[in-house]
Amino acid sequence: MSHRAWIGLGSNLDHPQQQVLNAFEGLAGLPLTRLSARSPLYSSRPVGPQDQPDFVNAVVVLDTLLSPLALLDQLQALEQRHRRVRQRHWGPRTLDLDLLLYDEHALNLPRLVVPHPWLSSRAFVVQPMLDIDPGLCLPDGLPLNRFSSAQPSNDLKRLAL
Ligand code: AMP
Repeated sequence: MSHRAWIGLGSNLDHPQQQVLNAFEGLAGLPLTRLSARSPLYSSRPVGPQDQPDFVNAVVVLDTLLSPLALLDQLQALEQRHRRVRQRHWGPRTLDLDLLLYDEHALNLPRLVVPHPWLSSRAFVVQPMLDIDPGLCLPDGLPLNRFSSAQPSNDLKRLAL
C-alpha cells in the first residue's frame, strides 16, 4: 500500500532556486515513489547564524512504497548527490531534505523523528504545506493553520515560481 510522505526542502548555496527545482526532479525519480504535489518556492531568512544567504524553501508530497527509514536513506543519498556542504550546525547548505510527515505515524527512532521536531514552528515549512492542503492536520489532530507560524511574516516571501 502506498504511503503519503511530506518532504521539506531548503537550500542557500550554489544557486539555491535551481537546487530546489533539481531536487523536485530527484524526488520524483526515487524508486517506488511518485511526486503527487509540490508547493511554490519561498525565500526565508536563515534560522541561527545570520551571516549567510537567505534560503529557498519548498515542500513536496510523495506517494511511496518505501518504508520511513528506506525513504530517509534515499533523501540522504539525494542530499549527497547535491554535494551538500555542512561546516556548522544551522549553517549554509546546498540541499537539506527533511521527512516532515509519513501518513499519520509518530516515530521516535535514533535516526528519524516524525513528525519532524521543528515542523510546526517553522513558517517556511508550515506555509508551503498549507498551500498544498489548507486543511492539513498533524497526527495528533491539531490543524496546522492554527499555529502562529501559519501567519504572514516578513521573514518569508513567496517567489514567483
Ligand atoms: P539536518 O541537520 O536537519 O539535516 O539533520 C540530519 C540528521 O537528522 C540526520 O542524522 C537524520 O538521521 C536526522 N533526522 C531525524 N529525524 C529526521 C527527519 N524527520 N528528517 C530528516 N532527518 C532526520
